[in-house]
Amino acid sequence: MYFDKAVCGNQLSRPALDALRHVIQHDQDITHLFIFRRDRLARPDDALDGMRMEAEFRSRGITLVFHDKVLPPLRQGQRQDVGEAIAAYIEYDTSGRFRDDLAEKMLHAQIQLARQGFSTGGRPPFGFRRFLVDGNGRVVRPLQDGEIVRQAGHHVVWLPGPEQELDLIRRIVSKLESMPANRIAKQLNQEGIPSPDSGRMRRDGGVLHAVSGLWHATTITGIARNPLLRAVTIYGRRAMGDRRRLSINGPRQLESQDYGHGKRPKVVQNPESERISAQAHFEPIVSIDQVERLQNLLNTRGGTQRGKPRSRNPDQNPLGGRVFDMACGWPMYRVPLSGTFRYTCGYYLQSNGDHCDHNWVQGPQATRFALAAIRQQLQAPRFRELMVNRLQEKLRASASTHPAASTAIEAKRSELSQRESQYKKVSRNMLYADSPESVKEFQAELRTLKSQADQSRAELQALEAAAPRPFEKPDDRLTACLNLFDQLPRLAEAAENLPAITELFRRLNVQLYLQFSPEKKKKRVLNKLRQAILTTGNATAPIRKYIGPTGRRTLQQTSGAAQPATKSERAGTKCPDDSSQEDESLGNTNRDDKI
Ligand SMILES: [Zn+2]
Repeated sequence: MYFDKAVCGNQLSRPALDALRHVIQHDQDITHLFIFRRDRLARPDDALDGMRMEAEFRSRGITLVFHDKVLPPLRQGQRQDVGEAIAAYIEYDTSGRFRDDLAEKMLHAQIQLARQGFSTGGRPPFGFRRFLVDGNGRVVRPLQDGEIVRQAGHHVVWLPGPEQELDLIRRIVSKLESMPANRIAKQLNQEGIPSPDSGRMRRDGGVLHAVSGLWHATTITGIARNPLLRAVTIYGRRAMGDRRRLSINGPRQLESQDYGHGKRPKVVQNPESERISAQAHFEPIVSIDQVERLQNLLNTRGGTQRGKPRSRNPDQNPLGGRVFDMACGWPMYRVPLSGTFRYTCGYYLQSNGDHCDHNWVQGPQATRFALAAIRQQLQAPRFRELMVNRLQEKLRASASTHPAASTAIEAKRSELSQRESQYKKVSRNMLYADSPESVKEFQAELRTLKSQADQSRAELQALEAAAPRPFEKPDDRLTACLNLFDQLPRLAEAAENLPAITELFRRLNVQLYLQFSPEKKKKRVLNKLRQAILTTGNATAPIRKYIGPTGRRTLQQTSGAAQPATKSERAGTKCPDDSSQEDESLGNTNRDDKI
């Protein structure tokens, strides 16, 4: 039996369906495939896709059995019956259309709710809770998180929650008029007040993690911009979905701007005029004048950068955190520049040009330089030979660490077999139980023994998983290392493949130190690159790296005196494997809770 759960029917590659196809391809003994209805096989965007899939199965000699018809296998070269094909086309077209109809129905229902100021689903923002109201707008009762109620004529509304949260909102709104959001966030963090979603789990880029409980500037402005503060509900800030999307006049078809790269539907911001706003079912929490004043203030503060995310794509930054300005010891930051990028002195950037100099280097050029240096080293005579000797030494030294792990596994394994045989013995003895009481006793005993055996089994599995992979001979391990090594030149040649280069630099722990000196050019004085030092592995850094705070405001407060690095040597003596781990925090507050 193959079931796909919570997957769109228009996806023609789904886990269970793929598994089914695989089995049919490889198991010649399968003769029949039972499918209740065609829409359980697919709800394709194009009806022909569904037909093609059926033909694929039938041409492999499979008989398809639906609840109302049986389709025999197709012999090679046999032409499909026209009537049968037309029926299949119509059925797949109808089943695909189901998704259009559903999208339309959902949107109509949500618009209907939004126009009356009711909740359209989701969790309410900070300071608000869900309540059940009847047809006359009377509050019936508060609702639990995630509680679903289906009751005729009743709806869910968001209403102001606990007074404690509302007080905090009022405090944030009044402070924000004279203080930037990140300072308020810092203050709240210092007071130990947990942030709105503290304690919840959140998924970023597919990775589940606990919300840190810290305030960020975005949390603060998000609260201040919440239209619910002036008792207005707004629905449809964003439009998403692949069949229909929201417009002020109801559901609409997707247009070209709704598709992103690779023709995939993307989430778009609806313009203000397309959003549905309504009067909420309560009085404003803060004065409307104050909120409007604040909106204008926040808009001017945000400038042109509002809502634009920082690039989170590390693939475009091969030397990120690996280039340093020798003049000040700061890392050089990636600055995008008309299609390409530069690395510019971080101290110069963060102090708005007050300190250090406008030292920069072309990003691709620096990358090519580092690659050339690595290639040169890899091709040096006797380099490989020296490395093999060194690895063999290391392997001999580490060979003694293996047995300890394996004895623990052995001990656990014998414990498991002991417990299992005891279980078998007791269950055999149970045959001789002569009264209901003794049967009960046996059962209790068996339960205990079983849970003990289960525990041993789980512990054994954990031990085996944690143990270093056993190598038949030390040579195998050396070969594995050399395979890795032999990949390096290939990585170092792919000058355009930035992710591969990033990986190469990470594995080798490449660090690039640049020295600049002024040079007079007609009227201006420019800083030209004079010298570069490239280190790999655990080489000591030639300069003291700057390790103080890097935030702009902090720099202003400390009048920019660069603290001498105290652990620069340590930073430079990390082993390549550790280079992905971060150093201790620089004392900057995170911008967002994203990971
Ligand atoms: Zn500098």
